[in-house]
Formats: sequence, structure tokens, C-alpha cells
Amino acid sequence: MFFFFVGGLEQQAREVLKSGAGRCINCGSRADLVEYDKVLKLFFVPVWRWPGKHPLMHCNSCKLFFPPALKIDSSSAAVTEALRCRSCDRLVDPEFRFCPFCGSAI
Ligand SMILES: [Zn+2]
Ligand SMILES: [Zn+2]
Repeated sequence: MFFFFVGGLEQQAREVLKSGAGRCINCGSRADLVEYDKVLKLFFVPVWRWPGKHPLMHCNSCKLFFPPALKIDSSSAAVTEALRCRSCDRLVDPEFRFCPFCGSAI
């Protein structure tokens, strides 16, 4: 997310965790898995900087940051988990708030 007016929030790669961990979703170049800092800029001067919570993918060609979840660990396990009733362990439509099989709250 970039803002091209007087102030804005930028992301800057701080440390490469895994070089060439994936491909850029924009240009297809090699992208690195990086730790990044969020940098708040006012009049193009960094005034505040804090570390990002999760590593991001960073493309060296087009400087795009994007979440690694799109390419690696698409957290399919977590999704499957959410679709199961915790009481009877049956697959439940995620729209449901109660399990149609055993009536437990989901
Ligand atoms: Zn790119
Ligand atoms: Zn159930």
C-alpha cells in the first residue's frame, strides 16, 4: 500500500528470511520472504518505524510486497479445521452458526 502525497505508510524490507522463496504475483520474478518494517513518512521523511507482524514476500523487480499466504502455506489446514464441528467433528457449512448434526455452537 503506497500513498504518493505528503505523508503515508510504506513498507521496507528489513531482513531477507528466505531468498527466492516464491514468485511475484505481479511480474513473476523471484521474490524473497522478508521481515519488513512499516515506515510512516511525512513529507517523504521517515518519522516513525515499527516492525511488521508477519513476514511478507518482496519482489526485487517491481518492489511489490504481498502476503506469502497466496503462494506458500495457504493455511488449508486451518480452513478445514474451521469447517468442522468441534463436538462431533463432522464437516459443517461455514455459514452455519450451529452444527446441524449435533446442535453445538460453531
Ligand atoms: Zn514483481
Ligand atoms: Zn456437531
